[in-house]
Amino acid sequence: MSRLSGKVQTVLGLVDPDQLGRTMTHEHLAGKNPDNNYDSFYVPPLQGNEAAAEDPFQIQHVHWLRQNPYSSNKNLNLTRDVVAVRDELLAYRKAGGGTIVENTTTGLDRAVVTLRELAKSTGVHIVAGAGFYVDCTHTEATKAMSVEKLTDIMVSEVLHGADGTDIRCGVIGEIGTSWPITDSEKKVLKATAHAQAQLGCPVIIHPGRDPAAPPQIVRILQEAGGDISKTVMSHLDRTILDEGELLEFANLGSYLEYDLFGTEMLNYPFNLEVDMPSDSQRVQTLAFLVKQGYEDRMLISHDIHTRNRLIKNGGHGYSHILKNIVPKMLTRGISQHQVDKILIHNPKRWLTFK
Ligand SMILES: [Zn+2]
Repeated sequence: MSRLSGKVQTVLGLVDPDQLGRTMTHEHLAGKNPDNNYDSFYVPPLQGNEAAAEDPFQIQHVHWLRQNPYSSNKNLNLTRDVVAVRDELLAYRKAGGGTIVENTTTGLDRAVVTLRELAKSTGVHIVAGAGFYVDCTHTEATKAMSVEKLTDIMVSEVLHGADGTDIRCGVIGEIGTSWPITDSEKKVLKATAHAQAQLGCPVIIHPGRDPAAPPQIVRILQEAGGDISKTVMSHLDRTILDEGELLEFANLGSYLEYDLFGTEMLNYPFNLEVDMPSDSQRVQTLAFLVKQGYEDRMLISHDIHTRNRLIKNGGHGYSHILKNIVPKMLTRGISQHQVDKILIHNPKRWLTFK
């Protein structure tokens, strides 16, 4: 039996799973480089909106920014607000939160030293993510790696530490995939499954924006020996909108994550075909999945990764689910017992090493 077995690994070390409490399973807190403009996310503003893009946090631009969060470079780097993030984590604890899974992987400028500082100064358990984000963030060196090499890196990030530190990751992911899935991403997915087979660790996936993406990813992981019962499929809110397709996917046995709570926009720039659901519609989908018997496989989160979503900048913050979404869930046929499963027991089971 491994040292990790039966434990959860945070940036401050191993903890007993009972200590986690309410857990957001898909968030971002920081990057390393405050000058990083995340060019791969940037979408130029429509003509006439340059002033808003230039000075996005003015009150008269808040609505524009909520609708167009990727159209201002100034909005794209949480690292510029690390003090506000720390204050929000303190507020998250006050609101009854216990743990945050920080999904920033290689390609997204992971900052494990900052995560350790945040965990120490706030008392919130923070779990860091191992592995690689989507293809357009893979370096030439990453693309040239064999599956074995990629596996070794992820195993080492969990067993020994990430980015030249002794700070260890407690999950693999978010592992990024595009649509269609690229060759480099397929290698990373296979390596993820191999590493998971060795470690018995939790895995979390960012699927490409197509309803066919999640089932294809599950097939690739399964064929490579991955454990789907310890794997989370993120971002279902913008990926599988048809109820029939959702139930078909739910049958495959992964955790089902609705992690864009707080994101309400008319035009989702990364896939204009998608009608981004509102929070009310997300809650309706949760109630539907509970009714269909999936209460032991559901997870929720906000996936905060832009500055406009912080309270300081007029956003909903990391406590939005605890403060606003849970009360709504309770009025829509989801019991307190089921809420506790979604926020406490499912994350705990997923995060515990086999
Ligand atoms: Zn994410």
